[in-house]
Amino acid sequence: MAELGQPKNTIDIIKKYNFRFRKKFGQNFLIDTHVLEKIAAAAEIGPEDCVLEIGPGIGTLTQVLAEHAGQVVAVEIDPELIPILQETLADYPNAEVIHNDILKTDLKELSEKYNNGRPFSVVANLPYYITTPIVMTLLEKNAPVKSITVMVQKEVAERMQAQPGGKEYGALSLAVQYYAEAEIVANVPPNCFIPRPNVGSCVIRLRRCETPRVETKDPDRMFRIIRAAFNQRRKTLANSVGNAGIPGCSTAVPAGGAAGTGTGGVITREAVTAVLREMGLSETIRGEALSLEQFAELSDRLG
Ligand code: SAM
Repeated sequence: MAELGQPKNTIDIIKKYNFRFRKKFGQNFLIDTHVLEKIAAAAEIGPEDCVLEIGPGIGTLTQVLAEHAGQVVAVEIDPELIPILQETLADYPNAEVIHNDILKTDLKELSEKYNNGRPFSVVANLPYYITTPIVMTLLEKNAPVKSITVMVQKEVAERMQAQPGGKEYGALSLAVQYYAEAEIVANVPPNCFIPRPNVGSCVIRLRRCETPRVETKDPDRMFRIIRAAFNQRRKTLANSVGNAGIPGCSTAVPAGGAAGTGTGGVITREAVTAVLREMGLSETIRGEALSLEQFAELSDRLG
């Protein structure tokens, strides 16, 4: 089968199957061989690796991944693409296509079936409409994933890498940086895709850390605090977190004694204010000014 990274071959296949791009599935197919090789190189995959590809499309990146990796498992939601993939991947016995929604796929089961339960290297040109839920699922504590090398919207890549203080900094930055080291490895312009997206794109690599980047007693509570802080990012941290109904610990009274977490063990505005004071931070500070370490400390002191 001809390389689909060559635009002519992609156009031929699309015509042959009378394929109609579906916006609702975020379909922008790569048509640039250099970008494809760059993604494979950034993913650092070899014959001992099993790659999980999300959204193979017509199989353009899948072909390149199958040349490098021992096994590729590609999960595609669009039924129209399955017969096309059968043709374009016919020469790659190590590429397996699964027709499913990645968000409904049991990754543990897949890794048992195709990789003896060992973690996948995830590689994808992601559908942009669900980038965040996909990345959050892959980062989860028990997900069998060792690295994630993905094409995302440029602005999303910048949010993943953002540091405190800027408008890009938010819950996604903190989640990514808690679990992984993020590095933008390539900028990719719209003309590398068909159809062209109306935004710039980046390839970003997330290497999962052996242990999370900060220690915290209760990561779930810390992330609830983080989400509350950025759901209402223009409000002060005390107001946004103190009104979110997050369970704390009913017996906790911050040193200095004043506030506690209030009734029913829910974190109150007063408790947040007292802890901020203890931490030497302004009572009117907003979430966007706090580092990951400070969110961990805030969460532990409120617990
Ligand atoms: N990998 C191909 C390429 O680079 O040319 C296609 C990438 S395209 C940006 C995104 C692909 O993800 C499409 O094939 C789309 O149908 C598929 N997709 C969208 N939502 C999905 C989901 N929830 N689960 C699995 N695949 C999905």
